[in-house]
Amino acid sequence: MPAQPLDREFEKTWDLFLFAAYCNPLPVKVGMGTADTPDVRFDLVHPTSRQLRDGVTCGLIAESIMIPVLVAVTFIDHSTVHWGYMAGAIACIVVSISYQSIYAAITKGKAKPTSQANAWFMIACLALAGLACIELSTSTPAALYTPAMLVGVIFVSIVGDRRMQLVVDLYALALIALIGWVQGLRGGEYIVSMVIYASTIGVVNFICARTVGSLTGQINFSQAIDSLNECFDSVGIDVVRPTAETFAEIFARGLPYVADILPAERVAVFNRSSALERYTLLAAWPDVKADCADLVHLPAVPVSLASNTVELESGFCVLPVGYATDGELFMVIERSPDNANTDARTAESAGLLAAAFLRVTSRANFVNGLHAESRTDPLTGLANRRSLMERLQMEMAHAIRAETPLSVAMIDLDHFKKFNDQYGHVVGDTVLRSMSAMMVSNTRDQDMIARYGGEEFCLVMPDTDLIGGHHLLEHLRRGGRDSVTDLGVTMSVGVTSWDGLEDPVTFIDRADRALYQAKSAGRDRVISIAAYTEPHTGTFD
Ligand code: GH3
Ligand code: MG
Ligand code: MG
Repeated sequence: MPAQPLDREFEKTWDLFLFAAYCNPLPVKVGMGTADTPDVRFDLVHPTSRQLRDGVTCGLIAESIMIPVLVAVTFIDHSTVHWGYMAGAIACIVVSISYQSIYAAITKGKAKPTSQANAWFMIACLALAGLACIELSTSTPAALYTPAMLVGVIFVSIVGDRRMQLVVDLYALALIALIGWVQGLRGGEYIVSMVIYASTIGVVNFICARTVGSLTGQINFSQAIDSLNECFDSVGIDVVRPTAETFAEIFARGLPYVADILPAERVAVFNRSSALERYTLLAAWPDVKADCADLVHLPAVPVSLASNTVELESGFCVLPVGYATDGELFMVIERSPDNANTDARTAESAGLLAAAFLRVTSRANFVNGLHAESRTDPLTGLANRRSLMERLQMEMAHAIRAETPLSVAMIDLDHFKKFNDQYGHVVGDTVLRSMSAMMVSNTRDQDMIARYGGEEFCLVMPDTDLIGGHHLLEHLRRGGRDSVTDLGVTMSVGVTSWDGLEDPVTFIDRADRALYQAKSAGRDRVISIAAYTEPHTGTFD
């Protein structure tokens, strides 16, 4: 059948319009209606920056390739219009390849050109090329628009919300109906053409929306999750302490990513202090904290906390996101009305979002556990030598600033080897533990008692002069002897105070010398050496 004459100007204008319209991300979303608002709504929305970036990129590629091809076709003789189909088909493949490469480039290699969504995209383009080839042999002029429009439809499916397919279907059908009418199709032929086009567009668009669109959506979604995890990984390990305040800092970094994963109006993270049943707002997005305080009163909050599960509703989503030392952490998301789905896919997104936050809170708690472990003596639970030295440095700095005295004591159990030989190591261990507990309960909070070595302890006493230190240690020595009298364990102690200048090693060394003197003087006693003075034996009474 020979090609029917076409109105060149008409065709050119509509081609350009179609591509300008379809190849850019249309900021339109269709609300399918909720229980409250049953009407289908067509809203103009702002696409997310990622959608815009991807959409503009692929739109530009499509336009830069397809428009010149179609413009060229409309300017050449109509007997060659059919070859325009072939050119369009080839362009589809070129577009898909370019799109994949650029997509991989803009996602910095995270979405590989061979990834599943892009493979689907490629298959869809090849299918369109096949469609164009079939149309070569049927030569209905309006068919020129089908591959062009379908390519646009695919782009829209990729960059937009998949519910956009309804708008796109109707738009495409209206245009085809108009074009067919203008080109002289009438009666049965017109109806058959419309049915064929409507079903083709419907089926292809459905496939695109279900496969390409949703798979690409998943890639965008997993990219958002990856970005969130990357952002959390960039939090330095040594700044991590599992207090609510530190979590506030971590969450503040992560909240901007939430809206990419589960479109949100407002997001807030709260800490429920288990002891007091009190809720504290830790972080909020996008505005100041006060604007989000009301989110804690949602009925879904206690439900989520009680069951420790994600509560997804059309308006809100509550996610348990871990534990701080002082309570449970949970996130409340006020969802965007344009994305109020509660389907399985949205529920999965919410679950993955919760998992990303849970991962960082458990990492923080784990790191803190390691940190605490590396600073604690496992047998007695006292600080170890390493944290003792850190604390001593801090106390020295404080003593200078506050102009207060600082003393330390070295404590060593007497004849402990013999004791072990007589009673065994297990009893020895028990004595070490009860001695430790006795010393902790007989010292102030600001004092630090550490296990210095086997049966040696070191006590740091801020704000304490030599006399005060000596008295305290006498008290401890008696306490120790009394608490383990039956077993006959005694302790020797050396006490000294800081001269305000010397380094920690010299300082502790003098306490050690005092201890040595206590040992040589017969054990079970306290000897103090003041800085720059001779040893003082006996008491200060
Ligand atoms: P003195 O200090 O009075 O001179 O005699 P001592 O026997 O306590 O001296 P020394 O420092 O030579 O021996 C320390 C002993 O402490 C050796 C070991 O049997 C015991 N000891 C060290 N660490 C532990 C421990 O973790 N558990 C037990 N049960 N014993 C320990
Ligand atoms: Mg000893
Ligand atoms: Mg010893």
